[in-house]
Amino acid sequence: MNYADIKKVDVANGPGVRVSLFVSGCTHRCEGCFNPETWSFDFGSPFGEAEVEKILTFLAPDHIRGLSLLGGEPFEPDNQRAVLDLVRRVREQLPEKTIWCYTGYLYEDLAANHMGTHSRPLLEGLDVLVDGPFILEKKDLGLRFRGSSNQRIIDVPTSLQAGEVRLAEEYM
Ligand code: SF4
Repeated sequence: MNYADIKKVDVANGPGVRVSLFVSGCTHRCEGCFNPETWSFDFGSPFGEAEVEKILTFLAPDHIRGLSLLGGEPFEPDNQRAVLDLVRRVREQLPEKTIWCYTGYLYEDLAANHMGTHSRPLLEGLDVLVDGPFILEKKDLGLRFRGSSNQRIIDVPTSLQAGEVRLAEEYM
């Protein structure tokens, strides 16, 4: 996997002060995408152990609430293994941090493990999933933590337990 950027401080993509990883590669190609340069899987730099360590170091201070995963598409089948490994490292070493992930896929398809072999395990490592493609006609600058009104902010553990989508109402 390649990545486009690691932001040490991000206050736009989830609650509190967060660290963000923008992975490379996305096949959704939404019209009006905010980050089209990240559609290419070759964009940016290789993501390896040094980057994992960097993210863990950035996450460690008390004032950092958690990690946000964006792109690009973290749930692209070719990206899932590397993202899953990162999520597991964060869970092991910094269990108090929350993990948010943005995807153009739908929760139901990821939960059913229809989108690549690691989509369900990766989902199980998250606190919140913001799902669905960006739809230009539904763009709304007044929305917090999402670009278009079709996108859902989903409480992942509660949804997995219920067997159906439960929104994280406090963020909608
Ligand atoms: S899913 Fe996200 S990164 Fe991919 S094309 Fe849509 S808006 Fe852009």
